[in-house]
Amino acid sequence: MGALSKIRKRINGSSEAATIPHHPSGTMSAISIPQSTNGSMIDLRAIKKAYETDAGPFLALKGIDLQVDKGEFVAVVGKSGSGKSTLINMFTGIDHPTEGEVVVAQTPIRQLDEGQMAQWRGRNLGIVFQFFQLLPTLTVVENVMIPMDLAGKYEGHRLERAMFLLDQVGIADEAYKFPASISGGEQQRAAIARALANDPPILVADEPTGNLDSRTAESVFQLFESLVAEGKTILMVTHDGELAGRVPRTITLADGLIISETKN
Ligand code: ADP
Ligand code: MG
Repeated sequence: MGALSKIRKRINGSSEAATIPHHPSGTMSAISIPQSTNGSMIDLRAIKKAYETDAGPFLALKGIDLQVDKGEFVAVVGKSGSGKSTLINMFTGIDHPTEGEVVVAQTPIRQLDEGQMAQWRGRNLGIVFQFFQLLPTLTVVENVMIPMDLAGKYEGHRLERAMFLLDQVGIADEAYKFPASISGGEQQRAAIARALANDPPILVADEPTGNLDSRTAESVFQLFESLVAEGKTILMVTHDGELAGRVPRTITLADGLIISETKN
């Protein structure tokens, strides 16, 4: 049984889960998404984001302009609460800006409905969430196979590819364990392997080395560098000043604004 049918079964005891988009391989023609070969991969124009709070609207992003080209490696730094995760949610389509335009991989993501968004995201973005968000009822290797199932990619060799990715992040030995029985650092690496599952052109990582010891953080960073050398676009939120200093371009956020930008 594939990882996806297994999770459908576990979620609601049947093979029909309305909440999980089902894209069997070969039926990906619902929308055709143009890929940029040059120019901006990520294009944010005049982005504002207000959250509704009991005290009224809170402006978490106050006007962000950001263009990231294909093949760029960008670090986003800033104090806790400065808006880093909110910014990431804007161009992954997880949340929407209150004002402004977001174009990613030449797709104005506001125009996508929920199903198109899931499909677009699965093909274009690998996301490493700040708190991993591994599915607890699936083994590590099943977690890594889920995006391939959803996108209908790598049919027939998903397990082999998942094991290759787990090996790349150094946790192949944990493949058949459940997320709760491995360490935080190992969960982080599983989340990175899952983000790379569909070989996405863009990788977005929110504090990907936050739970890793310095040696493991170094190996993850080197993996990112090699992915950039292959032409991937990476945007990484980090608190690690030393790592940020080794990324070619660093953007600093404060109170919902980009206050400085450094090219290293
Ligand atoms: P960072 O990732 O830099 O720590 P966030 O983007 O998570 O910052 O948060 C930016 C600001 O927006 C913070 O002040 C935070 O409290 C606020 N915020 C984030 N999410 C919400 C939400 N869902 N509702 C209200 N305020 C929020
Ligand atoms: Mg955050």
